[in-house]
Amino acid sequence: MGVVKCVGILTSGGDAPGMNAAIRAVTRSAIYNGLAVKGIYRGYKGLIDNEIVEFKTQNVSNIIQQGGTILKTARSQEFMTPEGRQLAYDNMCNAGIDALVVIGGDGSLTGARIFAEEFDVPIIGLPGTIDNDLYGTDRTIGYDTALNTIMEAVDKIRDTATSHERLFFIEVMGRDAGFLALNGAIAVGAEAAIIPEIATEVDQLAELIQNGFRKSKNSSIVLVAESELTGGAMGLAERVKNEYPQYDVRVTILGHIQRGGSPTANDRILASRLGNAAIDALLEGQRNIMVGVQNDEIVNVPFVKAIKKDKPINRDLLNTLRILSI
Ligand code: ATP
Repeated sequence: MGVVKCVGILTSGGDAPGMNAAIRAVTRSAIYNGLAVKGIYRGYKGLIDNEIVEFKTQNVSNIIQQGGTILKTARSQEFMTPEGRQLAYDNMCNAGIDALVVIGGDGSLTGARIFAEEFDVPIIGLPGTIDNDLYGTDRTIGYDTALNTIMEAVDKIRDTATSHERLFFIEVMGRDAGFLALNGAIAVGAEAAIIPEIATEVDQLAELIQNGFRKSKNSSIVLVAESELTGGAMGLAERVKNEYPQYDVRVTILGHIQRGGSPTANDRILASRLGNAAIDALLEGQRNIMVGVQNDEIVNVPFVKAIKKDKPINRDLLNTLRILSI
C-alpha cells in the first residue's frame, strides 16, 4: 500500500458513548488533511455487505453530543473467516479505500490486526468500549460516560436500599474487567466491589461478611462486575440467601442503560483527540496500532499489545474503597 488517499471508518462490537465524537473527529481531520472519507455502516458486516457511503464534513454535523453510533454497529461471524475477510477486502478496494480507522473494543481490534496482516492494509484502531479493558490506554471512549450513568443509577437505588435497610448487589458491565465496578463503587460510596481480577485470590463475599460490612450501616450497596469469575449479582445473592439468611438481599442488573446517553465532556474530548491522532498517525506512516492516551499524552500502541495484555486494575483503589466504607 502506498500513500493514503481515502480512509474508511467503521464502528464495531458493543457501542459506546463518544463513538460519534470519534467518527466526527476522524472525518473532519481526514478532510482537513485532504483525504477522502468513506463511512462503513454496521462494522465489518457492512464492509462485507458493501454498505459504504462517501462522508463529507456535513455527515458528521451535530453528532458530538449523541450517544450510540451513527454508523451503527454489528458483530460479524463472517469476518472471522478468511472468505469473509476476502470479501471485505474486495469491497474496500472497489470503494477506493486504502486505509481503515476501526473504533471498537478488544474483539474489533483483534479483527483489525488479522485483516491488516492478511492484506497489508494500514489500519489505526481507536479504543471504543465502555469496559476500559484495552491495554496501553488509560481510558477508553465511553468508559467515563458509563461510569457516570452507573453513579446516577446507584444513587437512586441507595435511597430505597436505605429505606428498607437492604443489601443490594448491583451488577455492572465490564466483561471480565472490574474497572466499572471498582471505580463505580468508589464514586457511589458503596460498601464493596466484587471484581474478576481478584476473584481467584480471595473469596470476596466471605471477606465482606467477615469484615462485618453492615455493622454501622443501615443499607449496603455492593457493585459486582458481570463475569463468571464473580458469579454475577444473581450468583452472589443466591449464596447470601443460602449462607447468610439474616440479610435482606436484592439484585439489580443495570444492563444496557450503561451503554446509552449523551457522552460526558471527558469522553467527547478523548474521542476528539484520538480521532485527530488516528489521522495524524496514518499520515506519519504508522500502521496497525491503536492510538490511546497515557498520562494525558497521545500514544501509539501496537495492536498485539493492546489486545493481548491484560490491563491491570489499580489495587490501591481496592484499599481506598475498603477504608472509606467502614
Ligand atoms: P465490546 O468490548 O464493547 O464488546 P468488541 O470490539 O470487543 O466490543 P466483539 O464482539 O468481541 O466486540 O468483536 C466485534 C467484531 O470483531 C466481531 O463480531 C468480529 O467481526 C470481529 N472479530 C473479533 N474477533 C475476531 C477474530 N479473532 N478474527 C476476526 N474478526 C474478529
